[in-house]
Amino acid sequence: MKRIIIKLVIITDFIAIYIGDDVMLDIKDKNIWRELLTTDNPELLEELYSSARIVQKEHYGNKIFARGLIEFTNYCKNDCYYCGIRRSNRDACRYRLTKEQILSCCDSGYKLGFRTFVLQGGEDGYYTDERLTDIVYSIKSRYPDCAITLSVGEKNRESYQKYFDAGADRYLLRHETANTDHYRLLHPQEMSCENRKRCLWDLKEIGYQVGAGIMVGSPGQTIEHILEDLEFMKELQPDMVGIGPFLPHHATPFANESAGTLDMTIRLLAITRLLLPEVLLPATTALGTLDPTGREKGVLAGANVVMPNLSPESVRENYLLYDNKLCTGSEAAEGLRMLDEMMKRIGYEISLDRGDRAGREVREWH
Ligand code: SAM
Repeated sequence: MKRIIIKLVIITDFIAIYIGDDVMLDIKDKNIWRELLTTDNPELLEELYSSARIVQKEHYGNKIFARGLIEFTNYCKNDCYYCGIRRSNRDACRYRLTKEQILSCCDSGYKLGFRTFVLQGGEDGYYTDERLTDIVYSIKSRYPDCAITLSVGEKNRESYQKYFDAGADRYLLRHETANTDHYRLLHPQEMSCENRKRCLWDLKEIGYQVGAGIMVGSPGQTIEHILEDLEFMKELQPDMVGIGPFLPHHATPFANESAGTLDMTIRLLAITRLLLPEVLLPATTALGTLDPTGREKGVLAGANVVMPNLSPESVRENYLLYDNKLCTGSEAAEGLRMLDEMMKRIGYEISLDRGDRAGREVREWH
């Protein structure tokens, strides 16, 4: 007999679902995730999104944190089958920014009010530990009131420690999928799900605010895989979770695969908000690329971060992870203004504060 879900209830820290006959199940229950990911009951879905908004507002009010994203290199030694900057894509127009260029991006971002800089790039051997720590240290010394987020892939623990000591506060490393067989479908032999997870645990132990996450609708992904991802995140307890749709790139082995859907992405954002109530959850550029109203819908499903681009305009169109990536041309200030208007239209406002995870102790850096 199919269960009938009557209501989502939130009692301080306890989030549950009432099913028929007054039975109540904890939101941490895998069967509820399955139900929420597959239901075609519009009332239940509306209930899911409004509950996610209640939890989001309880912790962050109507603030949406904006992070200044600097995509500083598109060289990559990896060959992930989904990614437009994979090393085998000979058509990619490669670039890397100098330390001075990165600092100048931070400088214009700081003047606009940004207090978090996210440095993202492919796994580029040019940025040795020495070069990267020097960049991090230079940014942190110049802007000690800002948080620095790194997203430069898999490294050994010693390297992560060096970046942390130099001043990096946060690290984004989507686990991509928690299932080893699915991981193998998405990545070549030399990469492993085990190592990706090891990196996340190392980062956490060092003291970073850690971000995991997945692409929704990546080739071969099933509902059971997504349930494993939720299990993994429940165990890891990340501070941030990056969830965006998979979008095909024409020069990859997945060129002809279908994109992930808006529907599944926002369901998963809302479930993540309920499962990890204080998490920092971006409404991603990929979501905005998939659907012109994608980011608004993401926020209305519990997301609370956006990441406007601070990279120099001349290189933006070369950081192409997937086709038709949004906003490759507009100025940082212009991008911020557009996001601000977009958020105001749905009753939220952009905050440029550091925006640490609610309730998290922030370390002193000297
Ligand atoms: N090298 C770093 C890493 O591996 O985490 C950061 C850069 S990597 C390009 C950032 C993220 O982009 C990946 O974690 C992946 O989830 C996402 N990405 C890559 N290709 C994508 C695609 N075709 N569609 C959607 N997201 C994609």
